[in-house]
Amino acid sequence: VDSTHLQKLIDIVGRENVLTEPSDTASFTTDWRGRFKGCCAAVVRPGSAKEVSEILRYASTHRIPVVPQGGNTGLVGGGIPDATGTAIVIALTRMNRVRKVDVLNDTMIVEAGCVLVNIQAAAREIDRIFPLSLGSEGSCQIGGNIATNAGGLEVVRYGPMRDHVLGLEVVLPNGDILEDILELRKNNTGYDLKQLFIGAEGTLGIITAASVRLYPRPHVTATAFCALASADDALSVLSMVKQRCGSRLSTFEILSKLQVDLVCTHADVQSPLTGSTPWFLLIELTDPDKDAPVEELLLNVLSDAMESGMVADAAIAQSDSQKESFWAIRHRVSEANVATGRVLSHDTSVPVSSCAEFVRQVESALKDQPSMQLSFVGHLGDGNIHAVAIFDRDRVSAKEFEVRASEVSSIVYDITRKLNGSISAEHGVGVSLRDKLPGHKNPVELELMRKIKRLMDPENIMNPAKLVTLN
Ligand code: FAD
Ligand code: ZN
Repeated sequence: VDSTHLQKLIDIVGRENVLTEPSDTASFTTDWRGRFKGCCAAVVRPGSAKEVSEILRYASTHRIPVVPQGGNTGLVGGGIPDATGTAIVIALTRMNRVRKVDVLNDTMIVEAGCVLVNIQAAAREIDRIFPLSLGSEGSCQIGGNIATNAGGLEVVRYGPMRDHVLGLEVVLPNGDILEDILELRKNNTGYDLKQLFIGAEGTLGIITAASVRLYPRPHVTATAFCALASADDALSVLSMVKQRCGSRLSTFEILSKLQVDLVCTHADVQSPLTGSTPWFLLIELTDPDKDAPVEELLLNVLSDAMESGMVADAAIAQSDSQKESFWAIRHRVSEANVATGRVLSHDTSVPVSSCAEFVRQVESALKDQPSMQLSFVGHLGDGNIHAVAIFDRDRVSAKEFEVRASEVSSIVYDITRKLNGSISAEHGVGVSLRDKLPGHKNPVELELMRKIKRLMDPENIMNPAKLVTLN
C-alpha cells in the first residue's frame, strides 16, 4: 500500500481513522491468545456502510487485500492479517449504533460494530432478550458473531446466531451494498442470499448491519448442578429434560470431573457436590411467566432421574448467589485450563446421540499420551463437546507441544469424521482449520464454496486465504 492508497483511505474516513503506527495497529494484528501474529499496511475505521463501500471499491480496483475485524475475540485466526503487511484491516468499531427497535415485531436493527453485551442490554430495556451468550460477550461484536455464526451457552434453546438473523446489510467486494435487511419472518422470494454471509468469516463481504430477532425475557430461572456416572446417563437425562421441560430448557452443559477439579483448584470456585463421579451437568430452565414453577419442575425431573439411577447427586440453586457460583464453574474453565498447562482445545460436534461414543473413543485413543491430561467441557445439548488436551508445561516444551498437538488433533478429528461430525461446531475455520477442511468436507461442497468465492470476490481481496484456499 503506497502513499497514494493511504491518502485515498484518509480521504474516505478521515485521518484519525487510518492507523499506521505499529504501536497503534498492534492490537489489531495479534489475536487475544497471542497465537496469530500478522502485519498490516493500515487499520481503517469506517463510520458508515457508504464509507465501507468506497473503501472496498478502491481496494478491488487496486487489489488491496482487506481483513474485516470485529472485537478480535475469534479463536481461529480469521480476523488477523497475514505477515506480508499488504492487507488493510477494516475495524467496524465505530459502527456501533442500534438503528431501530420494533417492540411489536420483536426485532432490532443494529450496526455490525455493536458489542454483544450492549445489544443484550438494549433488548432487556424493552423486556426482551437477545439470547446469544458467549464468554467473550463483553468484547465481541455482532458483525463478528454473524460472520462466525457464533454459538455459546443457550443454543439448545434459541439456536446459533444464524437463527437470530432476519436480514443483513453487506458491502460486497466490488463496493456494491446488498440491502437484504428486511425485518420479515417469512419471505420466500428466491435464494436466501444473506445466509451466505453468515459463517463466511468475512470472505464474501463486510457485514455493516443486521436485523435480528428478540425473544421474551425470562423472569424465572432454575439452575441445577448434577453428578453422573457416565456420559450415556447424561444423554438419557438430556432426553428426559427435553421431553418434560420443552422450550423451558435453556442450558445443558457437560463437564468432566477433571475439568471441575481444575476450575476448583485454579479459580476461586467451589463445586456444590462432593464425591467422585466422572461427569457433571449444568442445567438451566427459564420461563417468561414469573409464576411458572420452573424450580419445582426441575426438582421433579431430577428426582425421577435419581430414582432411576441416571443421576448420582444433584443440587438446585437456592439463591442468585448460589446460581452464580454454579455458573462460575462453567465460566472459569478457560482461565483454569490456561493456568494448568499448555492447552489444546477442540471444537467438534457430532449428532447428540453419538456424544457418549465420541467421548469414549477420544478417551480411549488418548489414554496413553504422556504428560497430558484430557478434559471435556461443552454444550451437550448441541452435540458440541470441547475435548481439551492439557500438556504439562515443565515436561512438554513449546516446540514439542506443536508436534504433539497436531497428532492429538488428528486423532480427535478422525473420530469426529467417523461419527459423522464436524471439526468446527461454533468457532469457525479461519486459518487454524483451513487446511484440514478438504479432508472433512466433501469435494462437491468444497468446490461449490470456491466457485461462490470466485464469483463474489473475483479479485480475491476479501479476507484472502481464510476459510478456503482457491487452488
Ligand atoms: P473477530 O474475532 O473480530 O472476527 C471473527 C471473524 O469474523 C474473522 O474472520 C473476521 O474477518 C470476521 N468478521 C468480523 N466482523 C465482520 C464483519 N462485520 N463483516 C464480515 N466479517 C467480519 N464462540 C462461540 O461460538 N461460542 C462460545 O461460547 C465462545 N466463547 C468464547 C469465549 C472466549 C473467552 C473467547 C475469547 C472467544 C469465544 N468464542 C466463542 C469465539 C468468538 O468470541 C466468536 O467467534 C465471536 O463470534 C467473534 O466475534 P468478534 O467480533 O470478536 O470477531
Ligand atoms: Zn463452546
